[in-house]
Amino acid sequence: MRTVRTVSELRAALNAPRRAQQTIALVPTMGALHDGHRALMRHAATLCDVVVVSLFVNPTQFAPGEDLDAYPRHEPRDAEIAAETGVDLLFAPATAEVYPDGFATTVTVAGELTDVLEGVSRGAEHFAAVTTVVLKLLNIVDPEIAVFGQKDAQQAAVVRRMVRDLDVAVRVEVCPTVRDGDGLALSSRNAYMSESERERALALKRALEAAEREVAGGERDAGHVAACARGEMSRLGVEPEYVELVDPQTMRPLSTLNGEALLALAARVGRTRLIDNTLLRTASSKTDSTPS
Ligand code: AMP
Repeated sequence: MRTVRTVSELRAALNAPRRAQQTIALVPTMGALHDGHRALMRHAATLCDVVVVSLFVNPTQFAPGEDLDAYPRHEPRDAEIAAETGVDLLFAPATAEVYPDGFATTVTVAGELTDVLEGVSRGAEHFAAVTTVVLKLLNIVDPEIAVFGQKDAQQAAVVRRMVRDLDVAVRVEVCPTVRDGDGLALSSRNAYMSESERERALALKRALEAAEREVAGGERDAGHVAACARGEMSRLGVEPEYVELVDPQTMRPLSTLNGEALLALAARVGRTRLIDNTLLRTASSKTDSTPS
C-alpha cells in the first residue's frame, strides 16, 4: 500500500490501473480506523480491483466548539490497518491541499434532507461541508464505487442525493453498522469515553432495541415508538438530543409506520456526542427498497 498526499500524486498512481481497465473504489474516512471502516474497505475490495481510502479530518464540517482539535489522529496505525485490509492507496492530504488559498465553492443539498436531525444539531453548514469534500474526493479519485456506512444514515442519503442531482458517475454503496460485542456502534469518538460513560452509552442501542420490540409487537404510531426509545434512554441516564422516525430516503418525519422507517437518535454521554440508528420494517414493506 502506498500513502499519497497530493492530488497529482494520487491521479498519477491511478493512471496505470485505469489504463489497464481496472475498477476503482473509494472509501472516504476521517481516520482513527476501526472495524466499521474495515468492513467498508473489505466490501470495496470485493467490488473493485483497486481500493483507495481517504484519510482527512475535514475541518469545515466541524462547527465552532465541536471536537475538531480533539478528534483522534493516528495515521501510522491507520496505514497499518488499511494495508492489512487490502487497501492499495491511502490518500492523506494536508488541509491546504484540499482547500487551497482562495477556495470559494460549496456544494449544498438543500431542503428536507439536510434541515432535520444532524442538520439541526450540527447546523446547516455541516452537510454542505460534507457534500463539498465528498464531491472533491469523487472528482479527485473518479471511482466506479464509493462506500459509506449506515451508521451515518443521513449522510449516506445526502451523498446519494448529491450524486443523483449532479449526475456524478459513481455507484454509492452503503454497508451495515458494525457494533462491538455489547451492541455499541463503533465510532472513532468512542475513544473519548471513560469506562462508566461507555457503559451508559449502551443506552443508545437499548433505545433502538426497545423501539424494535414495540414495532415487532404491532405498534405503528411513530410518536409512540419514539417516546418509547426516548424513555429507555432517560431510564438509563442518557438525555437524548433527538429521537426521530423518518423516511430513510427523504428524511421526512413520519407519523405512522408503513413500510420502511429510519429511527435515528443522537445523545451526549459526558462530552462525547454519539449517533445511532436502525431501520424498522413493517409488514407492508417491500422486500428490497434500498435506493441505488
Ligand atoms: P468517519 O471516519 O467516522 O467519517 O466514517 C467514515 C465512513 O465509515 C462513513 O461512511 C461512516 O458512516 C462509516 N462508519 C463509521 N462507523 C461505522 C460503523 N460502526 N459501521 C459501519 N460504518 C461506519
